[in-house]
Amino acid sequence: MRIEVEQPAKASLPKRVSYSQMSLYQQCPLKYFFSYIAGWREPPTSALAGGSITHEVCEYLYRLEPQDRTLDAAMDLLREHGPRMLRSNEYKPFENDLKMKHSVKEAIENLFKVEDPKQVVVQPEHIEMELSVDINGVNFFGKVDRFTVDGVNRVTDYKTGKSPGKFIDDKLAQPYLYALGFKTQHDIDVDEVELIFLNAQEVVRRPADSGLVLAQGENLAQMRVASEFDVANSSWEARVSRLCDYCAFERVCPARTPDAPAPGSSQCNTKLTEAGLLHK
Ligand code: SF4
Repeated sequence: MRIEVEQPAKASLPKRVSYSQMSLYQQCPLKYFFSYIAGWREPPTSALAGGSITHEVCEYLYRLEPQDRTLDAAMDLLREHGPRMLRSNEYKPFENDLKMKHSVKEAIENLFKVEDPKQVVVQPEHIEMELSVDINGVNFFGKVDRFTVDGVNRVTDYKTGKSPGKFIDDKLAQPYLYALGFKTQHDIDVDEVELIFLNAQEVVRRPADSGLVLAQGENLAQMRVASEFDVANSSWEARVSRLCDYCAFERVCPARTPDAPAPGSSQCNTKLTEAGLLHK
């Protein structure tokens, strides 16, 4: 169902496209409009705070010399960086969230159950590596959690939260796109992609099949062309799915709330503000 929206006359797409943007557009173009054109975002959640702290600890752990990557060292890093991050304005509301803190601790402990950090061959410059490259005419950017070279060139992303179950292929789209970014920007062939689901204690590895890798580049280009059409026509598709139940914009989405005001209108903005969403 296509929805006419109220856009500023000079509305434009973000200059660079990340995997998150592409994924959100694929899920629902109207949700993408609310987030990236109208500039709304949900307030930080406890899950986001926990995921950020976990990633920070993993980053600092793998910056240590291999022999120093012990569980005790990881817990020291957690004690150092956890409170620091929870003092930031963004995550302060979760300073006393014991459930989240327990989940982060468990995720770090689980890292040592799914792999031996001392055995991981990684260079400091290959941690939190930034990609910024033209892929099929699209200015793509991303940050890779880890790139390891141990006979196999492998792109790894850590995930917190639940096991992906049958949605694993959707989750793999991200490292496949990063593999294409590596090849295009650095002329490095990635052999394998890996997702480490820390809380679920699951490691998923797949060969970086060239067909799957190239397909993500095509998806990126298609998403950009389609979103250019949408912004030029002030009309975005509301793609109704089971994910609508978790969508912060459901209350102002004409596909789900029949008497909702036009997306982008001042009435719509008032409702989103009342619902606690933040405007950039
Ligand atoms: S409620 Fe569903 S259709 Fe509407 S914006 Fe959200 S995801 Fe899209």
